[in-house]
Amino acid sequence: MTVKKPQTGDLDPIETASRDEISALQLERLKWSVRHCYDNVEPYRRKCLEKGVHPDDLKTLGDLGKFPFMTKLDLRDNYPFGLFAVPRTQLARLHASSGTTGKSVVVGYTRNDIDNWASVVARSIRAAGGRPGDMVHVAYGYGLFTGGLGAHYGVERAGCCAVPISGGQTEKQVQQIMDFRPEIIMVTPSYSLVIAEEFERLGIKPEDISLKVGIFGAEPWGQGMRSEIERKLGIDAIDIYGLTEVMGPGVASECIETKDGPVIWEDHFYPEIIDPDTGEVLPDGEEGELVFTSLTKEAFPVIRYRTRDLTRLLPPTARSFRRIDKITGRSDDMLIIRGVNVFPTQIEEQILRDKRLAGTYQILVSRDGHLDNVEVRCELQRELSGRLAPNEIQAIGKELQHRIKTIIGISTRITLMEHDSIPRTLTGKAKRVLDERPKQN
Ligand code: ADP
Repeated sequence: MTVKKPQTGDLDPIETASRDEISALQLERLKWSVRHCYDNVEPYRRKCLEKGVHPDDLKTLGDLGKFPFMTKLDLRDNYPFGLFAVPRTQLARLHASSGTTGKSVVVGYTRNDIDNWASVVARSIRAAGGRPGDMVHVAYGYGLFTGGLGAHYGVERAGCCAVPISGGQTEKQVQQIMDFRPEIIMVTPSYSLVIAEEFERLGIKPEDISLKVGIFGAEPWGQGMRSEIERKLGIDAIDIYGLTEVMGPGVASECIETKDGPVIWEDHFYPEIIDPDTGEVLPDGEEGELVFTSLTKEAFPVIRYRTRDLTRLLPPTARSFRRIDKITGRSDDMLIIRGVNVFPTQIEEQILRDKRLAGTYQILVSRDGHLDNVEVRCELQRELSGRLAPNEIQAIGKELQHRIKTIIGISTRITLMEHDSIPRTLTGKAKRVLDERPKQN
């Protein structure tokens, strides 16, 4: 696609403001947000009292480090509405997380919250090169999951036309893309590959697909996956990040002109990186757990919310806001295999280094006596499927096994399958890991 560089007037002024202006705005909003939460969210006020801090102690952005964290446990303990800061009558909408890691959590939005959310998603679409008049195929699931409706309101706010197809019914998705000719698709990266495979099956070439840009998020995906999607759909693949507790999709999103990690919309969400073990705030550039404080949210303010996502803060490039690096994993997603810490994305990276392998995979972990066994199931690309001799397939598996052993440090059994053997998720997020080990208490 010819990259649509932002023109004067395209961007919100704060996107190109000086760092001093941004910090001043953040401090003003932070003071409001911490006080709003303290005054209206009883469980958080109790935490502050226990720690001996008060909103008046917040005089600089750095003072935020004195305040207690919020975690997913706080949300569960106060299920469903215990952390809401406004009465029920002021709510405009509820959402719940899809529960990737256990029981779902419920969040609420006022009309202003929905309005701010739409504007950051619209900003994300602009950053991806979308402009008024573009048509956007929204294949994130609609419903309690924040993906579908979150994207949808942003599409409309950006002056684009939303096609609210939601997830599933892949054949219909492909048919509609061919008939309606949208420029943009918003969907999880794993489901975009399912769609790409359906195009392949029908013999439709990337150059005959109208899509120019895909905005992908809701699950971790690496650079290998980016190249795979770009090649198969003939598009630019852009990374959008977000989580239900903080808002939904659109907390941060990548710019098409740099594709160097999602830009955090820092006028609404204040980021910190902490050491996940000690809680200590780390300097920009160091890897740790991402923590967010909402600056404008009314119904469900979060102060120092621990996302469990591991990444680092990067300096501003295409906009004045800082960026996040690719999420390497969730601290609760990490597998410990015979004592070695492994993230599924590390295995994904090794699979996708081999162009003969497709991006769909599964990691099965089981226990044999006291030992962990790992099986990596992956698939051949469609064009090779059914065409290779057993010894060629074996050689590909051996190479992958060797790479995983030497680079990540774990022994695995590789099961290399024909294309389409691993069940595709039709909606939402891929189930990459099947951990069948008995639970440890
Ligand atoms: P759940 O917590 O049930 O999975 P969410 O939809 O709120 O529900 O998921 C948010 C999580 O999804 C984030 O904390 C992060 O782990 C992951 N995620 C979202 N967007 C991205 C992205 N662009 N890259 C990597 N991970 C992402």
